[in-house]
Amino acid sequence: MPALNPYLASMPSGYLFREVAQRIAAYEQKNKDQHVLSLGIGDVTRPLPKVAGRAMADAALEMCTPEGFRGYSPDFGYPFLIDAIIKNLYEVRGVKLRQEEVFVSDGAKTDTSGLQELLSGEARIAVMDPVYPVYIDTNAMAGRAGEYRNGLWSQIEYLPCTAENGFAPLMPNHYVDALYLCFPNNPTGAALSRKELQRYVDWALQNGSLIIYDAAYSAFIHSPDIPHSIYECEGAKACAIECGSFSKLAGFTGVRCGYTVVPKELLGGTLNDMWRRRLSAKHNGVSYPVQRAAEAVLTAAGKAECMENIAYYMNNARIIREGLKDAGLTVYGGMDAPYVWMRTPRNMSGWDFFDLLLERAQVAGTPGEGFGPSGAGYFRLTAFGSLENTCEAVRRIKALL
Ligand SMILES: *Cc1c(COP(=O)(O)O)cnc(C)c1O
Repeated sequence: MPALNPYLASMPSGYLFREVAQRIAAYEQKNKDQHVLSLGIGDVTRPLPKVAGRAMADAALEMCTPEGFRGYSPDFGYPFLIDAIIKNLYEVRGVKLRQEEVFVSDGAKTDTSGLQELLSGEARIAVMDPVYPVYIDTNAMAGRAGEYRNGLWSQIEYLPCTAENGFAPLMPNHYVDALYLCFPNNPTGAALSRKELQRYVDWALQNGSLIIYDAAYSAFIHSPDIPHSIYECEGAKACAIECGSFSKLAGFTGVRCGYTVVPKELLGGTLNDMWRRRLSAKHNGVSYPVQRAAEAVLTAAGKAECMENIAYYMNNARIIREGLKDAGLTVYGGMDAPYVWMRTPRNMSGWDFFDLLLERAQVAGTPGEGFGPSGAGYFRLTAFGSLENTCEAVRRIKALL
């Protein structure tokens, strides 16, 4: 038998979404006349912006001509897309970036999972809790998380994010090599003001720690003083890597395009060099039609279409937020993120509340425990459904409670 990666072989199974799907399927099997509405969808549902589809189709046909054919894309992205990202997502916010600092990829999961390869096997990492599971899982597979006991990894520093601290974690109380931050946050829907985010940047600069910043939901920010990029904070280029994505911005979850910014200021260019070296070994670029589609998203027409879809989702978020409040529930988020995070009533566990909603209201959501230990007693509802289903689900929850 081949010697296996022991860390990967002993990973606990990622059972959350499977367990959710199984409970819904079992319920529907028993109650064939009932239709379960899901407010648990973690994927976008609105169609692609037309300009993006057209650009993708044009680019595909262009590649069918002798003049237009292209082979491998540049490892780090076509300059036309890198320029469009810098101009439309950074310069408009007063952030200047060089072409060599932006790396186009097939999505933020690829990059947030790959960035841990910049760190040594002994590096200590801290993560917000609850959070997107990818950061912990990929560090665990690399042997950096220690042992898994009672739902916790022994070597990971969990930074609890609860209503008591406004879902903004306390600083780690000892040195960590890397701190993963995600704002606006999945699952809590929390967003930070520039002043609040600056505290983490200052802490990282003082301690010589790296921040890995996941800005996948920046397009959902509406409140005026919330930074869309960590580089809007002073000094962030000397301590932070930022990942962005077209997935939630433009409905690209099935198209696949994202980017990562590794500033030259980080360790005097060492991290930029290392990331470049790693990508040239592991990555053969993102397809030309997809990069043309992403470029089209960043035109005036593309942005307008994206904003329409985002407004549609955020109207759902408002309906969920207000409806649950009317029902007497305590709710958070849903203002600058497509997620509403609620306290379960009567201190129920997330799973008990899941079963109650499923069986008595035929509505599904996601138990907070699935995103980390501090998610216990919370429940996530998403705004990615249709308006009709969202309204009906909220009506059912109100009637139940
Ligand atoms: C959806 C999501 C992403 C996006 O990942 P892609 O690979 O770009 O589709 C990244 N981070 C978080 C926290 C997400 O919820």
